[in-house]
Amino acid sequence: MIALDDARALVFRSVGRLDEVTLPIGELDGFVLAEDVSAAENVPPFPNTAVDGYAVQAADTATTPVELAVVGELAAGAAPTHVVRPGTAVRIMTGAPMPEGADAVVMVEETERLDGGALVRVRSSVRVGDAVRAAGSDVVAGTTVFRAGTVLNGPSLGVLASINRNTVSVVRKARVAVLSTGDELITDGGPLAPGQIRESNKTMLLPMVQAAGAQAVDLGVVVDDEQRLEEVLRSAADTCDAIVTSGGVSMGDYDVVKAVLSRIADMTWMQIAIKPAKPFAFGLLANRHGRQIPVFGLPGNPVSSMVSFEVLARPAIRQMMGHTPERADRPRIWAIADEAIRRDTDGKIHLTRVYGAFAPDGRLHVRSTGPQGSHQLAAAAQADGLAVVPDGHGVAAGGPVEVLLLA
Ligand code: AMP
Ligand code: MG
Repeated sequence: MIALDDARALVFRSVGRLDEVTLPIGELDGFVLAEDVSAAENVPPFPNTAVDGYAVQAADTATTPVELAVVGELAAGAAPTHVVRPGTAVRIMTGAPMPEGADAVVMVEETERLDGGALVRVRSSVRVGDAVRAAGSDVVAGTTVFRAGTVLNGPSLGVLASINRNTVSVVRKARVAVLSTGDELITDGGPLAPGQIRESNKTMLLPMVQAAGAQAVDLGVVVDDEQRLEEVLRSAADTCDAIVTSGGVSMGDYDVVKAVLSRIADMTWMQIAIKPAKPFAFGLLANRHGRQIPVFGLPGNPVSSMVSFEVLARPAIRQMMGHTPERADRPRIWAIADEAIRRDTDGKIHLTRVYGAFAPDGRLHVRSTGPQGSHQLAAAAQADGLAVVPDGHGVAAGGPVEVLLLA
């Protein structure tokens, strides 16, 4: 058996980063920046008011109350036309540019309109700069706003819009082919013939691939036929950036994935010291363009498939898309086991499916989702996390346990 960390290291050092593409801002959510971005413009572009009120010369408000002549009005989007001289004020709305001569804004709540608006009474003093947002106080032109490696999201795309960067270079998203193998699997909704079961792995994995930020490509169920499987794998390698298979990687006589991949790809067949998901295969399949396409051979048992995807395929696919190793992985947290998580010594790390919530003590409290067999997907599907239970006798009730957060 190989340690999980060694298996992960082997996989991570074999997957390359995908190439870069330049995309418009509307398509960039979730992508990883491939370049440093610096600002060509100041944000805000001009000094403006942070409040609704009156633009004044701060010196005029040294003693209050004071009455000032209102010489004009400015809404956001309007260009200033009036100059604020001593003894005068301009009525101004949030975001409007500061008029010439003014050096502070009195908020409207501290004022009173007199004479139908011709005069304003100011009740409290302001200092130079009060309620004024300086040009460049958000972003200074010429400075770097985001470094390569930043994951773009709503707020960061908002920043790009604010500096008029409408396209940027990012790491391409991976197209990930997903296929299930097995003569016993049916997907047509019909009655089950003896020995048949309903396919669940690819149905599970396709959205997991999407949620990882990649583009999932459904290659369906492939029967246990070497020639057919080879065709599907080769065509997937020609059109996709990674391939995720489930089933057929253990020691059985009909494990055609093992037979075919051993022949056409450069594979490492592993028995990983974890439970579930001990069998796992990883390798590179050369496509007709000469590119090496990573192949993740997940075990067929649905819970094993799920766990194997989580700890091996998902982080690797995310690293291909430019995520740093830390961001490629699920976050880990030390939680409290609210009930004992029992296990026996077997030389493996157990990845126990747990559910839980943060309690008022600030800690995540977890319990087992129930039966932990590798075919018991219904219980596993309740999981918020995978508890990393080291070899030994488990965790006592109330004891600490490290959890990989899935949700
Ligand atoms: P295998 O690794 O192909 O020997 O499969 C191990 C177990 O997982 C067997 O019980 C299979 O029937 C089951 N299995 C394999 N693939 C799937 C799938 N796509 N959906 C549900 N069960 C599967
Ligand atoms: Mg099979």
